[in-house]
Amino acid sequence: MLVFEDIKSLQSHLAGYCQKKSIGFVPTMGALHKGHLSLINTSISHNDYTVASIFVNPTQFNNSNDLKNYPRTISNDLALLKEVGCDIVFIPTAAEMYKDNLTSEKFDFDGLELPMEGAFRLGHFDGVGTIVKRFFQIIKPTRAYFGEKDFQQLQIIRKMVEKQKLKVQIVPCNIYRESDGLAMSSRNALLSKKHRLAAPFIYHVLKEIQSNFTELGVAKSQQFVKNKFETHNLLKLEYFEIAKESTLLPAKSITPQDNLRAFIAVFAGDIRLIDNIQL
Ligand code: AMP
Repeated sequence: MLVFEDIKSLQSHLAGYCQKKSIGFVPTMGALHKGHLSLINTSISHNDYTVASIFVNPTQFNNSNDLKNYPRTISNDLALLKEVGCDIVFIPTAAEMYKDNLTSEKFDFDGLELPMEGAFRLGHFDGVGTIVKRFFQIIKPTRAYFGEKDFQQLQIIRKMVEKQKLKVQIVPCNIYRESDGLAMSSRNALLSKKHRLAAPFIYHVLKEIQSNFTELGVAKSQQFVKNKFETHNLLKLEYFEIAKESTLLPAKSITPQDNLRAFIAVFAGDIRLIDNIQL
Protein backbone atom coordinates (compact mmCIF):
# COMPACT_ATOMS: atom_id res chain seq x y z
CA MET A 1 0.00 0.00 0.00
CA LEU A 2 1.38 3.38 -0.99
CA VAL A 3 0.74 6.54 1.03
CA PHE A 4 0.91 10.00 -0.56
CA GLU A 5 0.72 13.36 1.14
CA ASP A 6 1.09 15.69 -1.81
CA ILE A 7 -0.90 16.06 -5.01
CA LYS A 8 2.08 16.05 -7.38
CA SER A 9 3.52 12.72 -6.31
CA LEU A 10 0.08 11.09 -6.18
CA GLN A 11 -0.70 12.31 -9.70
CA SER A 12 2.65 11.28 -11.13
CA HIS A 13 2.14 7.82 -9.65
CA LEU A 14 -1.42 7.54 -11.05
CA ALA A 15 -0.20 8.76 -14.46
CA GLY A 16 1.96 5.63 -14.59
CA TYR A 17 -1.16 3.45 -14.62
CA CYS A 18 -2.25 2.16 -17.99
CA GLN A 19 -5.27 4.24 -19.10
CA LYS A 20 -7.39 1.11 -19.42
CA LYS A 21 -7.15 0.41 -15.69
CA SER A 22 -10.09 1.44 -13.54
CA ILE A 23 -9.63 3.47 -10.37
CA GLY A 24 -12.10 3.30 -7.47
CA PHE A 25 -12.05 6.20 -5.02
CA VAL A 26 -13.32 6.24 -1.43
CA PRO A 27 -13.17 9.65 0.29
CA THR A 28 -13.18 9.51 4.10
CA MET A 29 -12.40 11.71 7.08
CA GLY A 30 -10.58 8.85 8.83
CA ALA A 31 -11.27 7.28 12.24
CA LEU A 32 -12.15 4.32 10.07
CA HIS A 33 -14.67 1.65 11.01
CA LYS A 34 -16.26 -1.33 9.27
CA GLY A 35 -18.68 0.95 7.40
CA HIS A 36 -15.76 2.69 5.69
CA LEU A 37 -14.07 -0.65 5.07
CA SER A 38 -17.21 -2.01 3.38
CA LEU A 39 -16.88 0.84 0.84
CA ILE A 40 -13.20 0.03 0.32
CA ASN A 41 -14.00 -3.67 -0.18
CA THR A 42 -16.71 -2.86 -2.72
CA SER A 43 -14.29 -0.61 -4.59
CA ILE A 44 -11.61 -3.32 -4.57
CA SER A 45 -14.09 -5.81 -6.03
CA HIS A 46 -15.09 -3.40 -8.86
CA ASN A 47 -11.79 -1.79 -9.85
CA ASP A 48 -8.15 -2.47 -10.72
CA TYR A 49 -6.94 0.05 -8.14
CA THR A 50 -8.53 1.57 -5.06
CA VAL A 51 -7.55 4.97 -3.71
CA ALA A 52 -8.80 6.05 -0.26
CA SER A 53 -8.40 9.56 1.05
CA ILE A 54 -8.25 10.59 4.68
CA PHE A 55 -8.90 14.29 5.12
CA VAL A 56 -10.88 16.09 7.82
CA ASN A 57 -12.21 18.82 5.57
CA PRO A 58 -12.40 22.11 7.52
CA THR A 59 -14.81 23.86 5.16
CA GLN A 60 -17.62 21.35 5.76
CA PHE A 61 -17.65 21.95 9.54
CA ASN A 62 -19.95 24.71 10.72
CA ASN A 63 -18.96 24.11 14.35
CA SER A 64 -15.33 24.69 15.34
CA ASN A 65 -15.57 22.38 18.38
CA ASP A 66 -16.85 19.56 16.19
CA LEU A 67 -13.84 20.06 13.89
CA LYS A 68 -11.41 20.24 16.81
CA ASN A 69 -12.83 17.13 18.51
CA TYR A 70 -13.32 15.05 15.38
CA PRO A 71 -11.51 11.73 16.09
CA ARG A 72 -8.15 11.33 14.37
CA THR A 73 -6.61 7.83 14.41
CA ILE A 74 -4.28 7.88 11.45
CA SER A 75 -1.90 5.00 12.29
CA ASN A 76 -4.81 2.67 13.07
CA ASP A 77 -6.53 3.81 9.84
CA LEU A 78 -3.44 2.98 7.77
CA ALA A 79 -3.18 -0.46 9.39
CA LEU A 80 -6.86 -1.19 8.59
CA LEU A 81 -6.54 -0.02 4.99
CA LYS A 82 -3.44 -2.15 4.48
CA GLU A 83 -5.20 -5.17 5.97
CA VAL A 84 -8.16 -4.96 3.55
CA GLY A 85 -5.88 -4.48 0.54
CA CYS A 86 -6.36 -0.81 -0.33
CA ASP A 87 -3.76 0.15 -2.96
CA ILE A 88 -3.22 3.85 -2.33
CA VAL A 89 -3.99 6.25 0.53
CA PHE A 90 -3.97 10.00 0.03
CA ILE A 91 -3.56 12.05 3.21
CA PRO A 92 -3.16 15.68 2.23
CA THR A 93 -2.93 18.67 4.57
CA ALA A 94 -5.47 21.50 4.41
CA ALA A 95 -2.74 23.70 2.87
CA GLU A 96 -2.18 21.12 0.12
CA MET A 97 -5.90 20.98 -0.74
CA TYR A 98 -6.78 24.66 -0.32
CA LYS A 99 -3.43 26.48 -0.80
CA ASP A 100 -4.00 29.69 1.17
CA ASN A 101 -7.70 30.04 0.39
CA LEU A 102 -9.70 28.05 2.94
CA THR A 103 -13.11 28.79 1.41
CA SER A 104 -15.81 26.82 -0.38
CA GLU A 105 -17.10 27.15 -3.89
CA LYS A 106 -20.81 28.03 -3.89
CA PHE A 107 -22.93 25.33 -5.48
CA ASP A 108 -26.49 25.09 -6.72
CA PHE A 109 -27.67 21.55 -6.03
CA ASP A 110 -31.23 22.33 -7.20
CA GLY A 111 -32.45 22.61 -3.60
CA LEU A 112 -31.07 19.25 -2.37
CA GLU A 113 -28.80 21.27 -0.09
CA LEU A 114 -31.59 23.17 1.68
CA PRO A 115 -33.39 20.77 4.07
CA MET A 116 -32.12 18.63 6.96
CA GLU A 117 -28.30 18.69 7.16
CA GLY A 118 -28.27 21.78 4.96
CA ALA A 119 -30.63 23.63 7.28
CA PHE A 120 -28.87 22.62 10.50
CA ARG A 121 -25.26 22.79 9.22
CA LEU A 122 -25.05 25.98 7.17
CA GLY A 123 -22.44 25.85 4.41
CA HIS A 124 -21.82 22.14 5.00
CA PHE A 125 -22.66 20.96 1.49
CA ASP A 126 -20.68 23.71 -0.24
CA GLY A 127 -17.69 22.41 1.76
CA VAL A 128 -18.45 18.81 0.77
CA GLY A 129 -18.93 19.71 -2.91
CA THR A 130 -15.72 21.75 -2.97
CA ILE A 131 -13.52 19.01 -1.54
CA VAL A 132 -15.07 16.09 -3.41
CA LYS A 133 -14.80 17.95 -6.72
CA ARG A 134 -11.16 18.75 -5.96
CA PHE A 135 -10.45 15.08 -5.17
CA PHE A 136 -12.15 14.03 -8.41
CA GLN A 137 -10.01 16.50 -10.38
CA ILE A 138 -6.83 15.19 -8.77
CA ILE A 139 -7.54 11.43 -8.83
CA LYS A 140 -9.81 11.17 -11.90
CA PRO A 141 -11.49 8.03 -10.59
CA THR A 142 -13.60 5.71 -12.74
CA ARG A 143 -15.98 5.16 -9.81
CA ALA A 144 -16.43 6.80 -6.41
CA TYR A 145 -18.11 5.20 -3.41
CA PHE A 146 -20.45 6.95 -0.98
CA GLY A 147 -22.42 5.53 1.95
CA GLU A 148 -26.20 5.83 2.23
CA LYS A 149 -25.52 6.65 5.88
CA ASP A 150 -25.08 10.21 4.53
CA PHE A 151 -27.93 9.91 2.03
CA GLN A 152 -28.32 13.66 1.47
CA GLN A 153 -24.59 13.90 0.75
CA LEU A 154 -24.86 11.00 -1.73
CA GLN A 155 -27.68 12.78 -3.61
CA ILE A 156 -25.72 16.04 -3.61
CA ILE A 157 -22.63 14.38 -5.09
CA ARG A 158 -24.78 12.72 -7.76
CA LYS A 159 -26.29 16.12 -8.58
CA MET A 160 -22.85 17.78 -8.78
CA VAL A 161 -21.59 15.05 -11.12
CA GLU A 162 -24.70 15.40 -13.31
CA LYS A 163 -24.69 19.22 -13.44
CA GLN A 164 -20.96 19.61 -13.94
CA LYS A 165 -20.75 16.63 -16.32
CA LEU A 166 -17.94 15.04 -14.32
CA LYS A 167 -16.69 11.73 -15.70
CA VAL A 168 -17.13 9.49 -12.67
CA GLN A 169 -19.69 6.87 -11.73
CA ILE A 170 -21.13 7.31 -8.24
CA VAL A 171 -21.74 4.02 -6.43
CA PRO A 172 -24.05 4.04 -3.39
CA CYS A 173 -23.24 1.64 -0.52
CA ASN A 174 -25.56 0.25 2.17
CA ILE A 175 -25.49 1.50 5.75
CA TYR A 176 -23.27 -0.69 7.92
CA ARG A 177 -24.53 -1.11 11.49
CA GLU A 178 -23.30 -2.33 14.86
CA SER A 179 -24.94 -5.57 16.03
CA ASP A 180 -27.36 -3.50 18.19
CA GLY A 181 -28.48 -1.51 15.13
CA LEU A 182 -26.58 1.76 15.67
CA ALA A 183 -25.26 3.05 12.33
CA MET A 184 -21.48 2.96 12.39
CA SER A 185 -19.96 6.42 12.57
CA SER A 186 -16.59 7.86 13.52
CA ARG A 187 -18.45 10.01 16.04
CA ASN A 188 -19.68 6.91 17.93
CA ALA A 189 -16.22 6.71 19.51
CA LEU A 190 -16.93 10.07 21.21
CA LEU A 191 -20.10 8.84 22.97
CA SER A 192 -20.08 8.38 26.73
CA LYS A 193 -20.90 4.87 27.90
CA LYS A 194 -24.50 5.73 28.78
CA HIS A 195 -25.09 7.56 25.51
CA ARG A 196 -23.56 4.69 23.54
CA LEU A 197 -25.96 2.31 25.28
CA ALA A 198 -28.92 4.60 24.54
CA ALA A 199 -28.03 5.36 20.90
CA PRO A 200 -29.46 2.18 19.22
CA PHE A 201 -32.88 3.61 20.15
CA ILE A 202 -32.53 5.82 17.06
CA TYR A 203 -32.49 2.83 14.71
CA HIS A 204 -35.23 1.04 16.66
CA VAL A 205 -37.53 4.03 16.18
CA LEU A 206 -36.70 4.13 12.45
CA LYS A 207 -37.49 0.41 12.19
CA GLU A 208 -40.85 0.95 13.93
CA ILE A 209 -41.71 3.65 11.42
CA GLN A 210 -40.65 1.43 8.54
CA SER A 211 -42.84 -1.44 9.79
CA ASN A 212 -45.92 0.72 10.43
CA PHE A 213 -45.59 3.35 7.73
CA THR A 214 -48.49 2.19 5.56
CA GLU A 215 -50.94 2.42 8.47
CA LEU A 216 -49.45 5.55 10.06
CA GLY A 217 -48.79 7.70 7.00
CA VAL A 218 -46.56 10.79 7.11
CA ALA A 219 -48.11 13.06 9.77
CA LYS A 220 -48.72 10.33 12.35
CA SER A 221 -45.21 8.92 11.83
CA GLN A 222 -43.79 12.38 12.57
CA GLN A 223 -45.86 12.69 15.73
CA PHE A 224 -44.92 9.16 16.79
CA VAL A 225 -41.18 9.94 16.56
CA LYS A 226 -41.59 13.29 18.31
CA ASN A 227 -43.38 11.60 21.20
CA LYS A 228 -40.77 8.84 21.46
CA PHE A 229 -37.95 11.35 21.91
CA GLU A 230 -39.84 13.78 24.13
CA THR A 231 -39.89 11.15 26.86
CA HIS A 232 -36.26 10.07 26.36
CA ASN A 233 -33.90 11.53 28.93
CA LEU A 234 -30.58 10.95 27.06
CA LEU A 235 -31.38 11.55 23.38
CA LYS A 236 -32.60 14.86 21.97
CA LEU A 237 -34.30 14.95 18.57
CA GLU A 238 -33.02 17.64 16.22
CA TYR A 239 -35.10 16.71 13.18
CA PHE A 240 -37.15 13.87 11.78
CA GLU A 241 -38.21 14.17 8.15
CA ILE A 242 -39.92 11.94 5.63
CA ALA A 243 -38.79 12.97 2.17
CA LYS A 244 -38.70 11.87 -1.43
CA GLU A 245 -35.37 10.24 -2.23
CA SER A 246 -34.99 12.03 -5.56
CA THR A 247 -35.67 15.62 -4.47
CA LEU A 248 -35.40 15.40 -0.66
CA LEU A 249 -38.56 17.50 -0.55
CA PRO A 250 -40.80 16.67 2.43
CA ALA A 251 -43.48 14.10 1.62
CA LYS A 252 -47.00 15.18 2.56
CA SER A 253 -48.54 11.75 2.05
CA ILE A 254 -47.69 8.32 0.72
CA THR A 255 -47.44 8.50 -3.06
CA PRO A 256 -46.75 5.18 -4.81
CA GLN A 257 -44.68 6.82 -7.57
CA ASP A 258 -42.12 8.23 -5.08
CA ASN A 259 -39.50 6.34 -3.09
CA LEU A 260 -39.70 7.78 0.40
CA ARG A 261 -37.05 7.73 3.11
CA ALA A 262 -37.07 8.76 6.77
CA PHE A 263 -34.18 10.92 8.00
CA ILE A 264 -33.22 11.67 11.58
CA ALA A 265 -30.65 13.72 13.52
CA VAL A 266 -30.30 13.28 17.26
CA PHE A 267 -28.04 14.67 19.96
CA ALA A 268 -26.66 12.06 22.35
CA GLY A 269 -25.17 14.45 24.90
CA ASP A 270 -22.92 16.73 22.78
CA ILE A 271 -22.53 14.22 19.98
CA ARG A 272 -24.72 14.59 16.95
CA LEU A 273 -25.78 11.37 15.21
CA ILE A 274 -27.64 10.94 11.92
CA ASP A 275 -29.38 7.95 10.38
CA ASN A 276 -32.00 7.16 7.74
CA ILE A 277 -34.11 4.30 6.46
CA GLN A 278 -35.96 3.52 3.24
CA LEU A 279 -39.75 3.32 3.67
P1 AMP B 1 -16.85 10.01 6.69
O1 AMP B 1 -15.48 9.54 7.06
O2 AMP B 1 -17.80 10.03 7.84
O3 AMP B 1 -16.84 11.28 5.89
O4 AMP B 1 -17.45 8.90 5.72
C1 AMP B 1 -16.78 8.53 4.54
C2 AMP B 1 -17.72 7.71 3.69
O5 AMP B 1 -18.11 6.54 4.42
C3 AMP B 1 -19.02 8.44 3.34
O6 AMP B 1 -19.40 8.11 2.01
C4 AMP B 1 -20.00 7.88 4.34
O7 AMP B 1 -21.35 7.93 3.92
C5 AMP B 1 -19.51 6.45 4.46
N1 AMP B 1 -19.96 5.86 5.71
C6 AMP B 1 -19.81 6.36 6.96
N2 AMP B 1 -20.41 5.56 7.87
C7 AMP B 1 -20.96 4.54 7.17
C8 AMP B 1 -21.72 3.39 7.53
N3 AMP B 1 -22.06 3.14 8.79
N4 AMP B 1 -22.12 2.55 6.54
C9 AMP B 1 -21.80 2.81 5.24
N5 AMP B 1 -21.08 3.87 4.84
C10 AMP B 1 -20.67 4.73 5.78
